[in-house]
Amino acid sequence: MNLAEASNVAKRMLGNQWVKWIHRGSAPANTATEKNMNVINSSINPKHCASCLNMNGCYFVKDKSPENPLHEHCHCYYEAIGIPDVTAASAIEKFTKYIFNDTIDDGKKELFERWGYTLIDSSALQKEFEKQAQLSYQCGDYVLGKRTGHERINIVMRLKRKNSRQEVTFDTGWMVYPDGKLLLITPYGGK
Ligand SMILES: [Zn+2]
Repeated sequence: MNLAEASNVAKRMLGNQWVKWIHRGSAPANTATEKNMNVINSSINPKHCASCLNMNGCYFVKDKSPENPLHEHCHCYYEAIGIPDVTAASAIEKFTKYIFNDTIDDGKKELFERWGYTLIDSSALQKEFEKQAQLSYQCGDYVLGKRTGHERINIVMRLKRKNSRQEVTFDTGWMVYPDGKLLLITPYGGK
């Protein structure tokens, strides 16, 4: 990153107002299992909305935050927070067993191979995805997901082709977790 780029990033970072979704009286869901438990529990006992429970403690840029109230009788609210520290994580299997999977014939593997990436690049791709997602989230450069669950965001990934100077861009899908954490769900969501 050169100086002009760094100053642009800083400007984007500082230009956002952040909010935290609060569902008072319930513990934040910090893992996929805990999120799933909320979905299961609320289907058995619809007293609490699973989406609301799963957004508890999640950070959003104010003008790109899920609507609140989310539904009738929603008691959730937003609390203004300062610019948060955020992190992005991804499982290596999203690359080794999903993108570079020989048994799924959906064109993902061929696509990445056309860009010069193969299975042995999985770990490098994982680091690159995490780095870019963290920076984009920190700058508020994301789009709220429209799929089920309200705490999903899409982030545009830019990759240099290994075999040419061209860059490719495509969508990736991330789940928002409490305290500024992202977890990769969809490593290739189309262009
Ligand atoms: Zn609610």
